[in-house]
Amino acid sequence: MHWSPAPPCKRSHKPYNPIRTRKGARAILTAEFRLLVITDSHYAVNHEPGTTKLSCERGCELIGLAIEDARKYGFEAIALLGDLVNEAAGPGYEGTGPNFERELADIRERITAAAPDAPLLVVPGNHDRYPDAVLAAFGARAGLREIGGYRFVVFADAYAKGDYCTRSRTDLEMLRDTAARGGGPIVALQHGPISPEIDSSDYPYMHTNRDAILSAYSDAGVLLSISGHYHAGQPLNENGGVLYFTAPAIGEPPFPYTIVALRRRNVTIEPYELG
Ligand SMILES: [Zn+2]
Repeated sequence: MHWSPAPPCKRSHKPYNPIRTRKGARAILTAEFRLLVITDSHYAVNHEPGTTKLSCERGCELIGLAIEDARKYGFEAIALLGDLVNEAAGPGYEGTGPNFERELADIRERITAAAPDAPLLVVPGNHDRYPDAVLAAFGARAGLREIGGYRFVVFADAYAKGDYCTRSRTDLEMLRDTAARGGGPIVALQHGPISPEIDSSDYPYMHTNRDAILSAYSDAGVLLSISGHYHAGQPLNENGGVLYFTAPAIGEPPFPYTIVALRRRNVTIEPYELG
């Protein structure tokens, strides 16, 4: 008699978009935690289509479409990494942003319809006008949030005139204290890109105290740091034992979003496009 093993279970996972790599497909299927990352929608209700590379008028719709598309793969939480709306904030920008509240309400409504139960991690960006109001609109807050065995730390960095941005000393201390307490792997979230360095004299968006952030992340044993803002994105890279990734902007063709698959300390970046 020959013994035949039972046929393997059929995969119920049927992706709509082609998964780019076998490794990525396996990582998504076997992940302990999948974080849906959406950034830089730059939503503006009165935007004239075609005046920039950004489709600001579609920003809210694109967020909804990304969530609906990503539900085919599954995710445990959603991270919005800033510049949700196209209403610049800070000194020198006063008087802009008449549709700020309506735009935030539109996005909130769209997310609630697409993923009513998903935990939301919200990072304010330099175009989000009033960071506290953005967090409040989503019932979110900066700081530590533990979900599914991972410790997510949201940094709401302050932007000064000229869009120069600095990580506060309080936030650096908060990270150090969080690391000292022990717990699951730490994932840091902020709007501005950190690594690799963008070397351009006309690009003020890297943190003024970038070196202090790199050291703090390394000392705290941060597993992964995820940023937005730099619309082309930056691939996963390692710096001082910490992994860094910059997600591309959903507001520009080909309207990308990302699923970050985590399994213990393994990190896989899976990029998708809405077209
Ligand atoms: Zn930005």
